[in-house]
Amino acid sequence: MSTNAALFERAQRVIPGGVNSPVRAFRAVGGTPRFIHRAEGAYLFDAEGRRYIDYIGSWGPMILGHGHPTVLEAVRKAAADGFSFGAPTEREVELAEEILKLVPSMEQVRLVSSGTEAAMSAIRLARGATGRAKLIKFEGCYHGHADALLVKAGSGLATFGNPTSAGVPPEVVQHTLVLEYNNIALLEEAFALHGPDLACVMIEPIAGNMNFVRASVPFMTRLRELCSRHGALLVFDEVMTGFRVGLHGAQGLYAKLIPGFRPDLSVFGKVIGGGMPLAAFGGPRDVMQQLAPTGPVYQAGTLSGNPVATACGLATLKEIQRPGFFEALAKRTRSLTAGLAQAAQQAGLAFSVDSEGGMFGFFFLDPLPQHYQQVMATDQASFNRFFHGMLERGVYLAPALYEAGFVSAAHTAADVEATVNAAHEALR
Ligand code: PMP
Repeated sequence: MSTNAALFERAQRVIPGGVNSPVRAFRAVGGTPRFIHRAEGAYLFDAEGRRYIDYIGSWGPMILGHGHPTVLEAVRKAAADGFSFGAPTEREVELAEEILKLVPSMEQVRLVSSGTEAAMSAIRLARGATGRAKLIKFEGCYHGHADALLVKAGSGLATFGNPTSAGVPPEVVQHTLVLEYNNIALLEEAFALHGPDLACVMIEPIAGNMNFVRASVPFMTRLRELCSRHGALLVFDEVMTGFRVGLHGAQGLYAKLIPGFRPDLSVFGKVIGGGMPLAAFGGPRDVMQQLAPTGPVYQAGTLSGNPVATACGLATLKEIQRPGFFEALAKRTRSLTAGLAQAAQQAGLAFSVDSEGGMFGFFFLDPLPQHYQQVMATDQASFNRFFHGMLERGVYLAPALYEAGFVSAAHTAADVEATVNAAHEALR
């Protein structure tokens, strides 16, 4: 049996940093990443045979837990019928119909293979449909690693953002404006300056890439008004929140809080693939018809709508529609966050938590942060100690303080209790 350390060393020889996605490397928290051998229900098992209660869930997709029997059976059957055809299938149509049924803001949807691809394609579509170039995103929101979206805040409103990554020429992000999340005044100023040139505003309605920060209702209301008035498309990135915070995504929640609310375009990923590479973007028919082959905006994919992935996604979406699914998931999640808050309180630490459906965040800060700079004021060292304290006790939290956490339907009351007990010990 190989140890995690031996595997990491071997991995680093052949894969940059030893990982195929940076946050897996434990750079932020230090230490050796766990190489996962297998998973079952709410648990991960590493190369050394250690068991962990999993609060990452593959960064969101595993809402039913690992190896759900119905999903597994659907995947097995689909795989036996063929991995990929590069031709249309009935199952893609069925999945598209299922998604549209649950997300009334969309009349048509296109399936792709990753959240990055979906967000990038939605931006191209927004630009193509409006004939405009500029876009707004918010600091702390992540929409995948397409060039135009890898931008950090510029120094002021008149200036546009700077690339966050080497290899992205400044000209490529010259049309991307980065604003502070939940800041209405800046939003109004940006629209006053650039309104007629704005193709779209892309937002994580509950931002899971800065842990867990909700867009306030006044902010979302104003954002919707400004987009409508200026003819810019409001694009909801629900890669993380979609079918995770509730059956109708974050847009379902805002529609309850803001009469008549709906985004123009939406981007989904993670849960809609149930752990397989699958993502989607969609919106009104007239906008979606701008896509090739019916329209001039090009977009394509060899593995798009993959038959095994769509089987996995469909089976997952069917399961989460069982009566009471989200109520039970939300309750379990709240029992976790309440337990963590109590542990922190007993340890005399500043702490705040929030959750929605099966997604949660916690901060060694009080009150809850409203934007990225506030999130990043967290004491990194305390978070890292807590992370490792929990990991040693068999609880696998996200290895960075700016990541959200996920509870699945496979997490039991006993799992939550064990987690809270571990937190009491780790915080002591
Ligand atoms: N948007 C959001 C909100 C995300 O959280 C992520 C990934 N964490 C992406 C887009 C990119 O998705 P993917 O990693 O599948 O490319």
